Amino acid sequence: SKTFRDYDSQFKLVLLCTTVSGGGLLAYGEAVATSEAAVPEKKKVLVLGTGWAGTSFLRNLNDPRYEVHVVSPRNYFAFTPLLPSVTCGTIEARSIVEPVRNIFRKKHVDSRFSEAECIKIDAVNRKVYCRANINNNSNEKDEFVVDYDYLIIAVGANVNTFNTPGVTENCHFLKEVEDAQRIRRTVIDCFERASLPSVSDEEKKRILHFAIVGGGPTGVEFAAALHDFVSEDLVKLYPGVKDLFKITLLEAGGHILSMFDKRITAFAEDKFRRDGIDVKTGSMVVKVSDREISTKEMKSGEMTSIPYGMAVWSTGIGTRPFIKDFMTQIGQINRRAVATDEWLRVEGTNNVYALGDCATINQRKVMEDIVAIFKKTDADNSGTITLKEFQAVMDDIFERYPQVELFLKNKQMHGIADLLEESKGDVEKESIEINIEELKTALFNVDSQMKFLPATAQVASQQGAYLAKCFNRMEECEKNPEGPIRFREEGRHRFKPFRYKHLGQFAPLGGEQTAAQLPGDWVSIGHSSQWLWYSVYASKQVSWRTRALVVSDWMRRFIFGRDSSQI
Ligand code: FAD
Repeated sequence: SKTFRDYDSQFKLVLLCTTVSGGGLLAYGEAVATSEAAVPEKKKVLVLGTGWAGTSFLRNLNDPRYEVHVVSPRNYFAFTPLLPSVTCGTIEARSIVEPVRNIFRKKHVDSRFSEAECIKIDAVNRKVYCRANINNNSNEKDEFVVDYDYLIIAVGANVNTFNTPGVTENCHFLKEVEDAQRIRRTVIDCFERASLPSVSDEEKKRILHFAIVGGGPTGVEFAAALHDFVSEDLVKLYPGVKDLFKITLLEAGGHILSMFDKRITAFAEDKFRRDGIDVKTGSMVVKVSDREISTKEMKSGEMTSIPYGMAVWSTGIGTRPFIKDFMTQIGQINRRAVATDEWLRVEGTNNVYALGDCATINQRKVMEDIVAIFKKTDADNSGTITLKEFQAVMDDIFERYPQVELFLKNKQMHGIADLLEESKGDVEKESIEINIEELKTALFNVDSQMKFLPATAQVASQQGAYLAKCFNRMEECEKNPEGPIRFREEGRHRFKPFRYKHLGQFAPLGGEQTAAQLPGDWVSIGHSSQWLWYSVYASKQVSWRTRALVVSDWMRRFIFGRDSSQI
């Protein structure tokens, strides 16, 4: 089974032999020397991370003039949206992972991989310090330094525990493939322990109480997957304890799935209640011990203790420590993610890029741009623009920053939201008053609370693909700086800035029902969306191998049910 590459190298060998025998050794030697002199040194690109952003960058980079070194503690890419399905055995862990070396093999770019984690970035000397993920012969971990011409930081984020006592020690997280496997084993463990004759009924109830903290998409999807697992499979296998089982979903905010359309939130809350999942909104977890979760009611301040058997913590993301250190080095203090410009280049550096969950496009810069658009429109400084001008301003802002539409929907960015409201209020009105200073204050007040793009696989993979395309065209643009530069007149960059294209989002709710929110305010909930979910997630797999495995796992589950063994 020879690959095209094998034939390609044989072909080159035949060519070389023909040249040597026909053209003479001397002539060939000269030709080699000339071509060697002409080959410029390859630029070293160091990629940190093999998640959505890093892998998308690697898959789209195809300029052989780069020498790529990838450093990541895991040698595979994991399809995270299917992790909740792994927790309950609907899908096997191996079906959603693709080895990075398989991705390299298909590329004609000089690439290498080191299974290690970055522990420090030295941006001044262009060096990255790494520690191997595997122990050496003396049972220690090797450390090494890698230098670079360009650094791509795509290391994702940590779980955010908000420093809540006891969370790290007692809760499961759902971030990595190993987490999902551990949860699967623990769920089965709980059922086995509760089935032991020596355990009291009270204790059985505690063991079979599954608490999920965080009513975002991950927490909700896991609650739904766990409910399906128990009600469709485990109740048949553990009839003695089936009535003692309970799931509680704890959310500090007023609603679960608050980033979705209100119709979806209402449907999800209603469905969970009908399914017997206890949804406790307005309930903040303040402490977790090995047997109890302490919560504080947001309205009344009342404290409650809930006994539990297994707890899963899923409340958002935080910054990795070495990224915090890097941010301090480059003067980005008190930030939750590395701030980049709209071309994903880290502010304060000129050859470091950051993408995915660990990065954010600098909000301040975006807000300044928005204010500038208003100012430009109000050229005579009257503080008033016509309604038509206002609508043109909004179209301009939405075109540059489509994510602003999301914030406005979520009632963030009050400055603009109020103006928009005003513009809708009176159809007879011809002009609209804008006080630039008030607008500025309102916009910049919410600045620090927002990550300008959502922390999703969609954003990360679009950023990876965008950056790879910029790298593929880098040399052409350097040779021809007057080329097709869209923003040349602003003198900012030779590529078009990154523009996120929101393709919609899903929330699987269990019982073969999914909520889908697609662009253009299109909302669909139910069985038909579940089939859309199956087709989208099958099509988004990174290889035909994982696609085939995932589809066969779904079929296996339909035919035989989920596997409840502890392996
Ligand atoms: P990641 O994909 O997390 O990758 C980070 C990479 O960096 C990993 O390879 C990691 O090993 C590596 N790394 C970590 N530390 C270091 C270090 N020190 N040095 C070098 N490398 C390091 N998004 C959606 O759009 N739709 C969904 O349905 C969806 N569902 C999700 C379900 C779950 C359970 C989870 C956890 C997330 C889900 N997301 C979803 C979010 C999505 O997974 C993330 O937004 C996405 O993974 C971010 O991509 P990334 O490349 O920035 O980080």
